[in-house]
Amino acid sequence: MKVSEHVHQLKIEFQVTEEIKRFVYIYLIFGKKGVYLIDTGVDGAEQLIREYLEQYGRSLPMIKEIFLTHAHPDHLGAAYELKKESGCKVWGSKEEQKWMEDVNLEYKERPIPNYYTLLNKSVKLDGTYVNGEFRKLEEGITLQVLATPGHSAGSTSFYFLEEQVIFVGDAIPIVGDIPIYTSFHDSMKSLRTIKNIKPVTWYCPAWGEVWSVEEGGIRIAQAETFLQKIDDTVKKVRKERIKEARIEARKEQENQREIERQLVNENTTEKGDNNIANKKIILEVCKRMNMEKFLMNPLFRRSLCANIDNI
Ligand SMILES: [Zn+2]
Repeated sequence: MKVSEHVHQLKIEFQVTEEIKRFVYIYLIFGKKGVYLIDTGVDGAEQLIREYLEQYGRSLPMIKEIFLTHAHPDHLGAAYELKKESGCKVWGSKEEQKWMEDVNLEYKERPIPNYYTLLNKSVKLDGTYVNGEFRKLEEGITLQVLATPGHSAGSTSFYFLEEQVIFVGDAIPIVGDIPIYTSFHDSMKSLRTIKNIKPVTWYCPAWGEVWSVEEGGIRIAQAETFLQKIDDTVKKVRKERIKEARIEARKEQENQREIERQLVNENTTEKGDNNIANKKIILEVCKRMNMEKFLMNPLFRRSLCANIDNI
């Protein structure tokens, strides 16, 4: 689908498992001198990319550069094959270079089901990004690199200056979908970074259709509220749990002290349980058997003394 004069969007569908069906959007920038890609989709997506390019009278070897938003399999999957067939340059973030260049390491550190059917070939990067830098790909096509971490450590967005199109990868969570991030604070900060980029004609996410400036604004605001609500809820529940645990511990301590005090101070004529050593045994048995409620009953204590005497 054509988004703007030079930008096209391509949907790549794939199965994570038999039950989990997902998709990812990649973007192609058609220049005069070549084609530039934002992400590549999963392993095998090169076939769809080839077909799409041919529909527009272009071909796979015309791909000059690939800009990866991050290293997740649905973005990196076809990078190796595309590079092999076109000889293009591949760029990624410094933070995720080690995953892009060693997919086994990514799997080890971030295992997901059927990982190797989505991504099985590492790709050597031609270089990494510098936050804020401008990449002039050819006349009329300049991308500004924007570090937008949070979804992953090195998530990167790209602002296509001449057409005011911003490619955001997975940096804007979709309300109702699984929120995936490694840092809440970075995610929130990145949403602000994206929000501050102006002017924008089209927001181009990997997780959704292209959004107009109005819809993009709403989506970002929804994402902020969504992430903030998760964080607030986690903090609230955690605080409640700590408070409950403290109260429980205090109660437990008080009960314990009370039991010990009563036990030691009680003047009993019962034989056996007036002995301090026996009292301690009785107390401990009660604790372990969950029978504290019987502790003050002399008949019960006598029973336990019978056990002690029997030893
Ligand atoms: Zn991702």
